[in-house]
Amino acid sequence: MYHQFKELAAVDITKEAMEVGPTAHYVMGGVKVNFDTQETCIEGLFAAGEAATGLHGANRLGGNSLSDLIVFGKIAGEHAASSAKEIEQFKEIPESEIKEIIKDTLAPLSRDEGENPAAVVSDLRKMMQDKVGIIRTKSLLEEALTDLDNLEDRSRVVFGGSGKTYNPGWHQSLEIGAMIDVSRMCTLAALRREESRGGHTREDFPVPDHSHWGKVNSVISMNDVGEMEIGFVTYPPIPSDLKELLDSEDLQEEE
Ligand SMILES: Cc1cc2nc3c(=O)[nH]c(=O)nc-3n(C[C@H](O)[C@H](O)[C@H](O)COP(=O)(O)OP(=O)(O)OC[C@H]3O[C@@H](n4cnc5c(N)ncnc54)[C@H](O)[C@@H]3O)c2cc1C
Repeated sequence: MYHQFKELAAVDITKEAMEVGPTAHYVMGGVKVNFDTQETCIEGLFAAGEAATGLHGANRLGGNSLSDLIVFGKIAGEHAASSAKEIEQFKEIPESEIKEIIKDTLAPLSRDEGENPAAVVSDLRKMMQDKVGIIRTKSLLEEALTDLDNLEDRSRVVFGGSGKTYNPGWHQSLEIGAMIDVSRMCTLAALRREESRGGHTREDFPVPDHSHWGKVNSVISMNDVGEMEIGFVTYPPIPSDLKELLDSEDLQEEE
């Protein structure tokens, strides 16, 4: 810390005060994967690292993300490679779907005018920090869901500039939808989980409620009409060999 502040901010923290602020530095939720292969529910699509979920529970401990990447990135890579080798023929993609994707991708460039995508991203960021941040309440989370509807409307008509080359405005226009989806999932899960646990703190439910939420995961999926639905599943018990390892004296001593 001393060296970092000295080198990057020219502040000597043994003599001057340093500025400290909270920041989001990990997403505890993510894409559900098969725990042996890292394959998602889409055949042939694998996820590892911060995009995947299920490993760290309600609060990832410091340093564990990087070890997660090394271990589960290897597993995902190996299974992705072996699954790719088994493909004998690529699946047909309907021409209409390709045309639809091209149309949606070019839409932010084809408008004559529209809001700057950076302004929508900035408002989204601020809103999530203010209303779905460290300390959450029911009323703020409900407000956030309404704000997300408005931001989604704005995101549909942004103007990403006219060039296709080195145009970050275009990239941003294409990413906003996913950013809003992730924000909505986070808000929905935070609203429904009426307790505090790990990185999730509710001012109106300040303590963990083990009787209702102790072994429950929130699972969000998209229904047939494109709306998000949240369900809750009880996760399976820890396999006996792993439990034995976790309870073993060797490991306890290492901690
Ligand atoms: C401030 C901060 C401090 C942290 N400190 C620690 C720590 O001390 N210890 C620790 O273990 N963890 C720490 N973490 C967490 C850790 O850094 C991350 O969890 C980890 O880097 C995630 O790695 P990843 O490979 O899963 O994802 P990322 O590192 O986010 O990699 C995803 C990659 O995908 C690329 N990408 C995105 N979209 C596309 C696309 N459409 N096409 C192609 N590429 C795309 C991105 O550019 C990026 O390179 C910290 C995080 C932050 C923000």
